[in-house]
Amino acid sequence: MPPLEFEPLRSRAMSAAPRPPTAPQRPSTPPPLPARLLLGPGPSNVPRSVREAMAQPLVGHLDPSFLRVLDDVQANLRTLFGTQNRMTLPLSATGSAGMEACLVNLLERGDDVVIGVAGVFGARMCDVATRAGARVTRVDAEFGTVLSKDAMEDAIARVQPKVVAFVHAETSTGVLQPVEEIAATARRAGALVVLDCVTSLAGLPLALDDWGIDAAYSGTQKCLACPPGLSPVSFSDRAIDVVTARATPVQSWYLDVTLLAGYFGGERTYHHTAPISAILGLAEALRLVLAEGMEARAVRHREAASRLVGELALLGFEPLVRAEHRLPPLTAALLPERVLGWQDGAGASGEAALRRRLLERHGIEVGGGLGPLAGRIWRIGLMGDNARTENVDRLADALRAEL
Ligand code: PLP
Repeated sequence: MPPLEFEPLRSRAMSAAPRPPTAPQRPSTPPPLPARLLLGPGPSNVPRSVREAMAQPLVGHLDPSFLRVLDDVQANLRTLFGTQNRMTLPLSATGSAGMEACLVNLLERGDDVVIGVAGVFGARMCDVATRAGARVTRVDAEFGTVLSKDAMEDAIARVQPKVVAFVHAETSTGVLQPVEEIAATARRAGALVVLDCVTSLAGLPLALDDWGIDAAYSGTQKCLACPPGLSPVSFSDRAIDVVTARATPVQSWYLDVTLLAGYFGGERTYHHTAPISAILGLAEALRLVLAEGMEARAVRHREAASRLVGELALLGFEPLVRAEHRLPPLTAALLPERVLGWQDGAGASGEAALRRRLLERHGIEVGGGLGPLAGRIWRIGLMGDNARTENVDRLADALRAEL
């Protein structure tokens, strides 16, 4: 056996290293974080009981006590997604990984996919699918509007794709995309349907099975009111059959749903070390959602958003999106002149300076625009626990004070 190279290297490095002139400083404890009201596009604030659930002493990811929690999490995610799909699970990564998991499992090199792009996250899907070697046909809609079902239908009829993908709740524009007709058209053409539910899960009732969705993904940091870090995903049996019949292995080992099935399916064998504490937090968050009831929660989101639109109108902001397509958890508001020209008195001006002032003086975070809407809109999230009229009033008071 050849000698191990790192041993001599390590001892040489140790003997050659000059001694530090003084004892190394003890790392200091970071200062506590300030309290913030998170009214941006996510994350949203996390209820105390969710934080406490995450702070429990650790058990192993194969411990029977934890596996019982995982069973409940998967069952409750099925309820919220509106599906019977066996492969419904909290993926150990953020929403973008959920997007990637849905697309790289279903698409092989050279496969055709039609993607509806009405905002930044539809465009991200195109990037992911292109990197996976798929042939992407993009159907664009103006930011702030919904996808045209006729344009989607034409593209599906022309391309006969393997997969049709689009975003249910476009967080970059505040648009709620109607799903059923596009999904039905895709299904009739024999395509699998992928839906981004990052900002809709736990903010609006979902019905993946009734809508005919084959793969969907979300994130924990929006209407579920957990920290970021998990992506609930769901694959229909039809989707799993397509993955199982692939000619080539899934490009990503970590996201291969047939391998993930070892742990998240029936057998509970090791695939990767599941993020136990994050899943304990999600378990509590799901309990809170189901205790409130999804219908009541959706009403709470709608009422808070409607109050926000009213308060913003008094301050000169106009909604970007027509009333019938507005997404209650995320309101996109066009900025009035008094915001665009706002000055902080110390030399900074503009909408970004006002957002910084809201954060620093009032402890409130709101989001700026993305892509072509940067500098033109604010994105104000009322998600999960934050979807309450008192939070709207706090923001409106702060804005009134500054404007
Ligand atoms: N899709 C949508 C609609 C989103 O809003 C986001 C994040 O904001 C993502 C995907 C990506 O999720 P993440 O940032 O958790 O990776």
